[in-house]
Amino acid sequence: MLATLALGVLLTSHYPSQQGTWWKGNLHTHTLWSDGDDYPEMVADWYKSNGYHFLALSDHNVLSVGEKWFDLSKKRGAGQVLVKYLKRFGDDWVQTRVTGGKAEVRLRTLPEIKRLFDQPGRFLMIQSEEITTAHGAKPIHVNATNLHEHIPPRQGTSVVDTMQKNVDAVNEQRARTGIPMFPHINHPNFGWAITAEELMQLEGEKLFEVYNGHPAVHNYGDATHAGMERVWDIILTRRLAELKKDVMYGIAVDDAHNYHEMHVTKSNPGRGWVMVRAARLQAHDLVHAMEDGDFYSSTGVTLRDVRFDGKTLSIAVKPEKGVTYKTYFIGTRRGYDPATQRVEGPNGEPLGVTMRYSSDIGRVLTTVEGASPRYRLRGDEIYVRAKVVSSKPKANPYRKGETETAWVQPVRPR
Ligand SMILES: [Zn+2]
Ligand SMILES: [Zn+2]
Repeated sequence: MLATLALGVLLTSHYPSQQGTWWKGNLHTHTLWSDGDDYPEMVADWYKSNGYHFLALSDHNVLSVGEKWFDLSKKRGAGQVLVKYLKRFGDDWVQTRVTGGKAEVRLRTLPEIKRLFDQPGRFLMIQSEEITTAHGAKPIHVNATNLHEHIPPRQGTSVVDTMQKNVDAVNEQRARTGIPMFPHINHPNFGWAITAEELMQLEGEKLFEVYNGHPAVHNYGDATHAGMERVWDIILTRRLAELKKDVMYGIAVDDAHNYHEMHVTKSNPGRGWVMVRAARLQAHDLVHAMEDGDFYSSTGVTLRDVRFDGKTLSIAVKPEKGVTYKTYFIGTRRGYDPATQRVEGPNGEPLGVTMRYSSDIGRVLTTVEGASPRYRLRGDEIYVRAKVVSSKPKANPYRKGETETAWVQPVRPR
C-alpha cells in the first residue's frame, strides 16, 4: 500500500514550468562522516566558495546528526587536514578532546553546518544519505536526497530487487512524511554492478548518474561494457516503447572523497553538477523541478535556456570567448530495430553485461554547431535528448582529454 501510494506521488508530475532561476548543485559528496577525507564544513566551504547554490552531503549509511567524536589516530582528519580546518574555522569552532589517550575531534552536524552556510537565495545544504549495500560482489548504492530520517540499507534477492527495495524505502518515507525527496541510482557501472536491462526495470525511480566524477566508476564503459550514455539510450527506448514505464533523467555528480590533492586519479570536487530551474532555492522546489526534468547536467558548459514546446527543443548556450560548441541531438525513432545480442566471453560464455543493441537506439538525429542549437521533432521520436560538447578542456577531469559538456534531459513529442 505504501509503495503504491509513493508511486502515485511520483507519477503525478506535471510538465516543467520552464521558468525560474538556474541553481547549481551537487547531490553526491562525502566527508569524514564516512569515507571522505575532510571535515564537513570544509567541504561545504569548498562548494559555496566555488559558486554552487546547493549541496547534499551524502555519506554512506549515515546522516550527519548526533554526537560523533572522530578518532585522529587513524590519520584521516589529522595532520595538515586538521591544521587547515583550524586555520579556516579557528579554535573557538573546532572542538577537540583527549579520551583514553586518543585525540578526537567532534564532527559538526548538518543543523550546525546549515547555520553556518545556509543563506536564503544563495546557498542551501540538503540532507542526504548514500544508502550503501551490495548484492553478492556487486555494489548497489542509492542516494536519498532530502530524506528526513536515516534509512538502513535493505537486502534483496537480486540486483534489481536490491535496488528496488532501497528505492521503495525512500518512496515509503516520502509517502509517510509528506516531505518531497527522491532516490537516485549511483554509478551503475561501479564494480560493473548494474546492467541496462536491470536498471530499466525499476519502478518509482526517475534519476540515475550518467556522469560521476569518481575515477573508479567507468562512466565510459569499455570494450565489453556499455558506457553510461549508451545505457541511458537503451533504458529510455525500452522503458518508454516496450515496458511502458516512466522516463529516466541523467544527472552529473562529483562523488567527491578527496579534497587535498587535485588530480585525475583522485575523486575531487568540481567535476559534475546539475543546474536546476526553480522559482526558489528550496529543497521542495529543487526536488519537484528535478522530477519534472527541469534541469541539465554539466561538467562545465552553462546554458542560458532550454525550451521545449512539444515540437522543437531549443537550447541557448552561454558562450565563452574562444570556445566552440557542437550539440548532438540523440534519440530513438518508432519502428527501430529491437534486435539484441548477448555479450559473450572468449569461450562463448554469457558475461551478464548490458546487451548489444542496434544502432537505431540512441541515434544521433542531427548535430548543430554554435550557441543556439535547436531540433524540430519529426513526431516519430520516442524521445530526444541533447548533448552539448564544447572545445574547452575540462580542468581536473574525470578522465584525461575530456572537454566541457552539458546533458539536456530527454523530451517526448506531444
Ligand atoms: Zn557509491
Ligand atoms: Zn558516493
